[in-house]
Amino acid sequence: MSKITENISTISKEIASYKATLIAVSKTKPIEDLQEAFDGGQIHFGENKVQEMVSKFETLPKAIKWHMIGHLQRNKVKQIVPFVHLIHGVDSERLLLAIDKEAKKINRQVHCLLQVHIAKEESKFGFDVDELMELIKSAQFEELKHIKIVGLMGMATNTKNKEVIKGEFTQLKETFEKIKTEIGEKDNLDMKEVSMGMSGDYMVALKCGSTMIRVGSAIFGERNYA
Ligand SMILES: *Cc1c(COP(=O)(O)O)cnc(C)c1O
Repeated sequence: MSKITENISTISKEIASYKATLIAVSKTKPIEDLQEAFDGGQIHFGENKVQEMVSKFETLPKAIKWHMIGHLQRNKVKQIVPFVHLIHGVDSERLLLAIDKEAKKINRQVHCLLQVHIAKEESKFGFDVDELMELIKSAQFEELKHIKIVGLMGMATNTKNKEVIKGEFTQLKETFEKIKTEIGEKDNLDMKEVSMGMSGDYMVALKCGSTMIRVGSAIFGERNYA
């Protein structure tokens, strides 16, 4: 068994009781590494750059489900809308509108997660909870028929302090539950997924209710650049 497949297998066993989706974050990694993971049974892959995701999509088997996990620019939405499985980092109303507009052109309903700002760091993207509730409750949101919000995504503060991380993940999970109970289901809203947890903190995330973990370096090894 290859090292990559072995890592996936180890993590899959470790998380088996949680029934979460393991997304193999393959950004910066060569096609061969992804093919190896796919041959070992891995279906969900995460990328953070549009150009890289498009070129990998074109080369690799069509059975792969592609997750856009990075900050997405509106002018690049068009390139991924035809094939993307889930867009994790929707962090503004303008971006959501742009996705809806492009999806409408090809008559697709694109699944998205709204990114919530949970970290202490200023630099992390995302909505705060009040903004999020306002958006979902707005009349304009009802009109977005070519997107479907299927959950929330968050990134914890980059710290070794597990208590801080746990607090932030718990906050995300609570926001998820709040939307479910206060708003319920709509044609374009069906809260099922909480995307949280990376190589360093996925067990903490799962204990806090994560349904999707985004794991890169623990599968493919360290990256040379972001
Ligand atoms: C790179 C990245 C990951 C994976 O990070 P690792 O620490 O390598 O597991 C997860 N989520 C996002 C948004 C990323 O950009």
